[in-house]
Amino acid sequence: MPHVRCMRCRECGSEYPIEPLNVCELCFGPLEISYDYASIARSVSRQSIEKGPASMWRYHDFLPVDVEAAVDIGTGFTPLVPAKNLGRMLGLDHLYIKNDAVNPTYSFKDRPVSVTASKALEFEFEVLACVSTGNLMGSVAAHGARAGMETMVFFPATLEKEKIIGAAVYGSTLVAIDGTYDQANRFCSELADDNRWAFVNINMRPFYAEGSKTLGYEAVEQLGWRAPDHCVVPAASGELHTKIWKGIQEMTDVGLIDDARTRMHLAQPEGSSPIVEAFRAGLKHVKPVKPDTIAKSLAIGNPASGPFALETLAETGGAAVAALEEEVVEGIRLLAETEGIFTETAGGVVISGLRRLVEEGRIRNDEVTVAYVTGNGFKTIEVVENGVSPVRTAPNHEAFQTAMEARTARTRSAAVQPSTPGGKK
Ligand SMILES: *Cc1c(COP(=O)(O)O)cnc(C)c1O
Ligand SMILES: [Zn+2]
Repeated sequence: MPHVRCMRCRECGSEYPIEPLNVCELCFGPLEISYDYASIARSVSRQSIEKGPASMWRYHDFLPVDVEAAVDIGTGFTPLVPAKNLGRMLGLDHLYIKNDAVNPTYSFKDRPVSVTASKALEFEFEVLACVSTGNLMGSVAAHGARAGMETMVFFPATLEKEKIIGAAVYGSTLVAIDGTYDQANRFCSELADDNRWAFVNINMRPFYAEGSKTLGYEAVEQLGWRAPDHCVVPAASGELHTKIWKGIQEMTDVGLIDDARTRMHLAQPEGSSPIVEAFRAGLKHVKPVKPDTIAKSLAIGNPASGPFALETLAETGGAAVAALEEEVVEGIRLLAETEGIFTETAGGVVISGLRRLVEEGRIRNDEVTVAYVTGNGFKTIEVVENGVSPVRTAPNHEAFQTAMEARTARTRSAAVQPSTPGGKK
C-alpha cells in the first residue's frame, strides 16, 4: 500500500502507525486512514483505472490494502442505471440508480468488508467478527469463508430470517442478541477489548470505512468522469454518506476531475431518524433514539458517524429527509415497477426520500442525480408478501379461462370498493 501515510485522529489530528485501532488514545476521536495524494496522483490516470478489473479493486490505489492480498469475492463496479421511467414520474431528466444490490452478498457491505477482511489477514487475526443490522453479517461470513477465517456475527434477534440464514450458510457462528443494535454494539465493544478478534466495525472500523468510498469513485467514473449534482444516500451510522463524499473529493484531490459540487443528501426511515432530527434542529450532535422501523438495516439509534454526516450535509448543502414508515414499501414498489430493480427496505427509504427532496424543490429537473440502492429486496421479502395471489389453474385452456374471468371480476369489484380507511396519502 504505497500511498498510505498513517492513521489520523479526526478530532485532534494525532497520527498513529497503521494498526487495528479505531479511537485516538488522547481524545477518543475516531481514526481515519491518511494518504499521500500527490503520490496517488502520480500513479493513477483515467486510463489506468479503466484498464483495471471490473470490480472495486480498480481503485486499489485509494485503498489501504495491497491489491495482491485482497480478499475479493467479486465486489463492485455495479451498474449505474439511467432511470428514465422513474425520472419521468418524478420530473427528473438525469436520474440514475446506483444498483449495489447486485454485489456477491447482495448489499454494498461487501465493499467495506472486502477491505477489512484483507487487512485482518494481514494483521494475522484468526477471527473475523461484526455486529450487524442485517447485511453486514452475510458479508462478513462470506469473506471469512473465502479467507479461511473463523467468523462470529452478532445481531439483534429480531432481524429478518433471510439475513440470518444468509450468514449461516457460510458456516458462521451466529449470536442473536436479545436487545437493540445499539445494545449489541455496546456489548461487542467490550468483547473487542477482551478478545483478539477483528471486529470489522469496531476495532477495524478505519479500514471498514474506506471500502465505502468506492461507491463515490464508481458514480463519478460511470457518469463519464464527472461528479453528480446530487447524491441520495441511506443512513444508519452515517458512515456511508460521509465516505461517498470523501471518495468524490479524492477524485478532485488527485486531479481525475476538476471540481465536485455534489449536494450530499441523506435518507432515514421516520422510525429511526436521529440524524434527520438533528439536521432539522440545526444541531451538530445527534440525540440517540430508540428505533422502531421496518427498515431494520437502518435501525441504529445512536449513530457513530452522525456528527460527520451532519458536517457533510452542511459542507455540501445537502438535506436530511425521513421517509414515513408506510412510504418505505411504496418506495420499494415504485422502483420495482418503474425500473425493474427490487430493493430492500433501505432502498425504499431512499426512493421515498428522493421523492420528498424533489417535492421540496431541492433537486432541479436538469441536474444529475444518483440515488444509491444499497441492498437487495430478496432479503426483506416479508414486507412485500401481502396481497400476492397468483391466478390458480389446472393446465388446460378451459380452467385457465375460468380462472382469468374470476380474476377480472375480482379486480373489478376491488376497484369499486372505497379505499381502505387510514390508507396512504
Ligand atoms: C448498513 C446499511 C446502510 C447504512 O450504512 P451506514 O454506513 O451505517 O450509514 C445502508 N443500506 C444498507 C442496505 C445497509 O445494509
Ligand atoms: Zn485525537
